Amino acid sequence: MDGSAIAARRDLAVRAAVEQGLVTEDRHPIAALLDVRAIREAAHALRTAFENVAAPGQDVLHTFAVKAASLVPVLRLLADEGIGCEVASPGELALARAAGVPAAQTVLDSPAKTVSELREALTLGIALNADNPSELARLDELIDPDLPSPSPVGLRVNPQIGGGSIGAMSTATATSKFGVALDDPGAREWVVRAYRERPWLTRLHSHVGSQGMPLELMAEGARATYELAEEINAAVGRRQVDTLDLGGGLPVNFDSDEITPSFDEYARLLAAAVPGLFDGRYGIVTEFGRALLAKAGTVLARVEYAKSAGGRSIAVTHAGAQIAVRTVFTPEAWPLRVAAYDAAGEPKTADGPGGTVVQDVAGPCCFAGDLVARERPLPRLGEGDYAALLDTGAYYFSNPFGYNSLPRPGIYGFTVTGARDEPAADGAGGEVRFVPVREPQSLADIVADSGGEQRDALREE
Ligand SMILES: *Cc1c(COP(=O)(O)O)cnc(C)c1O
Repeated sequence: MDGSAIAARRDLAVRAAVEQGLVTEDRHPIAALLDVRAIREAAHALRTAFENVAAPGQDVLHTFAVKAASLVPVLRLLADEGIGCEVASPGELALARAAGVPAAQTVLDSPAKTVSELREALTLGIALNADNPSELARLDELIDPDLPSPSPVGLRVNPQIGGGSIGAMSTATATSKFGVALDDPGAREWVVRAYRERPWLTRLHSHVGSQGMPLELMAEGARATYELAEEINAAVGRRQVDTLDLGGGLPVNFDSDEITPSFDEYARLLAAAVPGLFDGRYGIVTEFGRALLAKAGTVLARVEYAKSAGGRSIAVTHAGAQIAVRTVFTPEAWPLRVAAYDAAGEPKTADGPGGTVVQDVAGPCCFAGDLVARERPLPRLGEGDYAALLDTGAYYFSNPFGYNSLPRPGIYGFTVTGARDEPAADGAGGEVRFVPVREPQSLADIVADSGGEQRDALREE
């Protein structure tokens, strides 16, 4: 799918952000921009993709993996688009509730749920997926087998189909920490027995994908999950497993503006590989994160200095590890595109006055490896210019790293309106309106977050 409209709106938003003072020299040299329309379009693409392959009337619940953009207004926007929340901690559940996401559209997954978290989910009627036998044993204490379960409950399994290109993102390796490892000796029989003994266990969960995972392998994970559900239902003699939770993990293209793979491609592949998923016998839950938000976000940072060292050109910007943790610490796995803008917020081009230079783009943190791009040919970045980190709507500005007491930047949602208040598809000539999604962290906030109130706590009496 073509993302050039997003790119056109991004250029307009950058210029407007500079003009409207969202990135200012002294206090806020970095800001994050979120394209509201791009989020809505991604949500729409996801819904449509599954509607196209689902049986008439089949229950399909899409949830958003909150960790990918843990921002209440984003969760609220997605809820308006019919997308619920997948949460994995008490904090994420609190965000989903603050956003007004109904319990029936919330799913709790986490490998380390405490008893009180389990109890809270059951009290609220929030669906949850148990990770392991010990967690099921805890649930045995909390759920009355003679009554209908207060929440839909599933078990997470790991079909051990193998990993993708990023080890840390691979959830379905033989030794992954997640779920019940299905091919381990005796595991399958144990799973079937666990369902037989617990009539309230009605869902089956797996999340095998993430960045770097081939779609075919994701479909294989879905097939393994489906086949296990069929096996369980055959063994217990009724359709006890009524819902399959297929996880998230659609990879995102970080190389260009093209939106690929698309939700549509994935849904069609699933339908072809596992037709039984969409014949209407099972409800379906999905949990996409990155693919819903990544393309909608841009980090915009001032270039503070341009320097050279040992023959290397370095642009020192205000975007580094505090905002791009994964890119800085594992650059091969998480490369980001960097776009260059001049001091007025206009795109800098390769044939512009400064030409193209191979340069490193560095951040503000005090360690040598704080680089978001290395030896990258880019229009020459100079003092007062801006560097934009593209496709950063998921897992970047919403997951900051508190290094050097650098503040969390402000996040601004934007819409582009045309002449008659109509959204201009290509963004051409549009006006950009920003709304704050999260205010920039103030110096007073930083002091308070750093024990400011406890100043004398360690002094001798
Ligand atoms: C992180 C996570 C997701 C979302 O993964 P993405 O790669 O962001 O789509 C979905 N389900 C579970 C259980 C997760 O942990």
